Amino acid sequence: MHEVLKRVFGYDTFRPKQEEIIRHLLSGGDALVLMPTGGGKSICYQVPALMLPGVTIVVSPLISLMKDQVEQLRANGVHAAALNSSNSEEENLLVRREVDSGVLKLLYISPERLLTELPYLVHEMRISLFAIDEAHCISQWGHDFRPEYTQLGVLRKLYPKIPIVALTATADKVTRQDILSQLNLENARTFISSFDRPNLSLDVRRGLSTKDKQRAIMDFVGCHPDDSGIIYCLSRKNTEAMASYLMSHGITTAVYHAGLTTEERDKAQDDFVNDRVQVICATVAFGMGINKSNVRYVVHYNLPKSIENFYQEIGRAGRDGLPSDTLLFYNLQDIVQLSKFAKESGQAAINMERLERMREYAEADVCRRRILLNYFGEQTEHDCGNCDVCQHPPKRFDGTVLVQKALSAIYRTGQKITLRVASDILHGNYSPEVKSNAYDKLPTFAVGRDVPLRDWNDYILQMIQLGYLEIAYDEQNHLRITQQGAEVLYGRKSAQLAVINRVEVIPELLTRRRKKETPTFEFVGEMATSAGVESAALFERLRRLRLRLAQEQGLPPYIVLSDKTLHALATQQPTTVSQFGQVSGIGEFKQQKYGQIFVDEINDYLS
Ligand code: ADP
Ligand code: ZN
Repeated sequence: MHEVLKRVFGYDTFRPKQEEIIRHLLSGGDALVLMPTGGGKSICYQVPALMLPGVTIVVSPLISLMKDQVEQLRANGVHAAALNSSNSEEENLLVRREVDSGVLKLLYISPERLLTELPYLVHEMRISLFAIDEAHCISQWGHDFRPEYTQLGVLRKLYPKIPIVALTATADKVTRQDILSQLNLENARTFISSFDRPNLSLDVRRGLSTKDKQRAIMDFVGCHPDDSGIIYCLSRKNTEAMASYLMSHGITTAVYHAGLTTEERDKAQDDFVNDRVQVICATVAFGMGINKSNVRYVVHYNLPKSIENFYQEIGRAGRDGLPSDTLLFYNLQDIVQLSKFAKESGQAAINMERLERMREYAEADVCRRRILLNYFGEQTEHDCGNCDVCQHPPKRFDGTVLVQKALSAIYRTGQKITLRVASDILHGNYSPEVKSNAYDKLPTFAVGRDVPLRDWNDYILQMIQLGYLEIAYDEQNHLRITQQGAEVLYGRKSAQLAVINRVEVIPELLTRRRKKETPTFEFVGEMATSAGVESAALFERLRRLRLRLAQEQGLPPYIVLSDKTLHALATQQPTTVSQFGQVSGIGEFKQQKYGQIFVDEINDYLS
């Protein structure tokens, strides 16, 4: 198995759990594999597929996923094919011929197609292994339920001796149980790898106005010249507005949302995957089926509706294991909007609960990665050092007087104002609401003139988080003083507030990244081969060469060579084809195909 890993995929070591899983499958056992996105699930069935006689059948829910996997495998010289509704008759014939001649090693197939082919094509094949990818699609509890998946239970009955492996990045217990029972995998072993993605930085910014948000995103994109990134927005309107803002600043940007035609969406996705545009501004409709390994950042323009969604979405960054950044914006308007959606969702209680967890994450004052891992049932004892809280531990001060000012201002309006109006009153802003309600005549008007308006916003948000105020979502989002708030208002208790710390222009995580002081990673073995000093100029030349080769073949650049491999080349600078073949991520096939041309480029650069 190590020989296959090196020869075909060009990797020197297995990642945690991969070797164990492969051994188990080779010995004929069934398995359920839970690994985060980018964890390396494919290798777990691809290596056995190449070692066992016959064909491995991979069930996959999306055409784009199949296409990507087949392209990746072919780029490594493996005979792989896909069968789904997008195939032409010609392609079908080709698959059939490869099956007949016995050269095909992996067949990707949609569940419905598999069921119809069971008595025909599949019947004629010598099957080595079944892999059920995105196996959570079988569960109604999951977020991507596919009714066709529920019929896959017949496989265990029809093929009692062929091992089955189900793979997913969705870890919750109910879904896990559901997968095992529906697939009739009574004796399967479950393999759970850590859900930590230490290469993803985590950063949250609170309460920025639309303008500030756009500017902050532009700065952030500017810190990633030429790197691919996804910006998720809650509304179609925002995707369009954000995209035109970026384009007016010279960033090539595509838009993706459900209001576009299928062709427009496909084109946007294709342009992004093939590096023809740098950034995609999308609603959450975008992403499933995107295997692009060199997405270097994911920005959330609005709060996601749950931690599950959030983790899945940021998981699309840094699949190749290289350092990647994530940035989440959060303001009260998001909560208002998402609460409305949750209440109208038909599962109000559970969705409000999920939203609440998400909000707590965004507002937390403890290491964000610990919160995420705790949420997924993994205990950690260490702060990560790669999130904004670790980078800027909040300082606190005695904010009793500020809380009293705010609460008494709210009290004097009869608790009939929103956060924005409360800030207006405290800072002394003559806004239309203030004037029409004569709030400027209240004794509390402008009692906090010394505090900037947006700091008032932030402090009041803190008061909500600390439980001194609550928002009446069912009464126009008016602020209400809680029991605990009353204790502070009447001087029976003091209140600690966090010092407002605005890091806007260039986030520290990024400047640190530029100096290449990245934190330690899980996949140390993979990084170790890249020892040495990387030449940025050479990297750019290699990146351009890769783009040209990709365009000539109609392939996404990351399939020609991954970013990680490109960085390794720019560091190790091999000058012979055989040295080229030693670089991580280059198997025999790519060595022969690309060795000379890359080595020529490197030699040219060196001379
Ligand atoms: P998943 O399906 O779990 O999201 P993939 O199987 O697509 O993840 O793997 C993510 C990336 O990690 C791919 O680029 C893959 O080639 C790489 N990878 C997987 N296993 C290894 C390994 N043992 N060494 C180095 N890279 C690996
Ligand atoms: Zn942290």
